[in-house]
Amino acid sequence: MSRVYNFSAGPAVLPEEVLKEAAAEMLDYKGTGMSVMEMSHRSPAFQQIIDEAEQDIRDLMNIPDNYKVLFVQGGASTQFAAIPMNLKKNGKAAYIVTGQWAKKAAQEAEKYIDVDIVASSADKTFSYIPDCSDLDIADDVDYVYICENNTIYGTKYHTLPNTKGHVLVSDVSSCFLSEPVDVEKYGVIYGGVQKNVGPAGMAIIIIREDLIPESVDKSVPTMLTFKTHADAGSLYNTPPCYTIYMCGKVFKWIKAQGGLEAMKKHNEAKAKILYDFLDNSKLFKGTVVPEDRSLMNVPFVTGDADLDAKFVKEAKAAGLENLKGHRTVGGMRASIYNAMPTEGVQALVDFMKKFEEENA
Ligand SMILES: *Cc1c(COP(=O)(O)O)cnc(C)c1O
Repeated sequence: MSRVYNFSAGPAVLPEEVLKEAAAEMLDYKGTGMSVMEMSHRSPAFQQIIDEAEQDIRDLMNIPDNYKVLFVQGGASTQFAAIPMNLKKNGKAAYIVTGQWAKKAAQEAEKYIDVDIVASSADKTFSYIPDCSDLDIADDVDYVYICENNTIYGTKYHTLPNTKGHVLVSDVSSCFLSEPVDVEKYGVIYGGVQKNVGPAGMAIIIIREDLIPESVDKSVPTMLTFKTHADAGSLYNTPPCYTIYMCGKVFKWIKAQGGLEAMKKHNEAKAKILYDFLDNSKLFKGTVVPEDRSLMNVPFVTGDADLDAKFVKEAKAAGLENLKGHRTVGGMRASIYNAMPTEGVQALVDFMKKFEEENA
């Protein structure tokens, strides 16, 4: 068996310890004589798995008691619709567009409510986060929406927007559990789990209880109604059982690493190795303004599309996989989530140095 360093943006690298544990439990989960994949979601063994997963993410993020944690199907994109459907009061929301995922969320929301785009960084190919300290936000918006870490463009909000007292909704798909968060600053934090937390197929929603409406428009599907999942402890129907189990293992792994403070230190040290190299390279160049750089997704280019393609190909042959940039931006992107070891980033930088010498 040989494992590569996998720089995929998602589904993405998982901690090797977690994969080994899951492998060891595959045929017989803790004496039940069956795999978690074969187990009733109404069984005591599964109830314990989901209860522990919820408690562990609550511990990690310090989630206050007046917030619910929901495990729901459909990834992050389904929430692009569910959020306006559930948070709709006046039928208007403010969106800040800092990349494709925020744009898609705004476009989806427009089907259900009025959307004000109050800021955007589209003018410079989303290579920065706009100043959000004093935006023109209407008094009657139901919420202000951001995508906190822009997976494709490699930017991150290092300061949250001034929402002028409105509820903040944040898509954290690609920075979930990568550093400490102050949950109380948000009304809703949500993300697909396949970037930093577990296998694909699920989103986690952390939502302040008073934002879960007693009733929604009749046309809102039961499965997209937050109250359905909140009332049923995420067990209204068959949940993505195995994904919940794997996420639970990742939560325990993060706890064992020292929690989110330790994760942040580890992620900062890792990203620094790559950014320092990019800042000093004559061939490679990062595409994001330094003050808004993401710790998770690092896009870079040589400035020559053919050379970029050669790099991606040779890197793959050297065991450094999935470095091709998003199809809409080109170039390269290294996603260096929680589970990417420092050695992986060091191996990438060593390879980039060698490539730079060979192609000078
Ligand atoms: C990947 C991603 C999504 C889409 O996630 P799906 O689970 O595939 O729907 C949404 N937002 C962000 C920030 C992402 O990185």
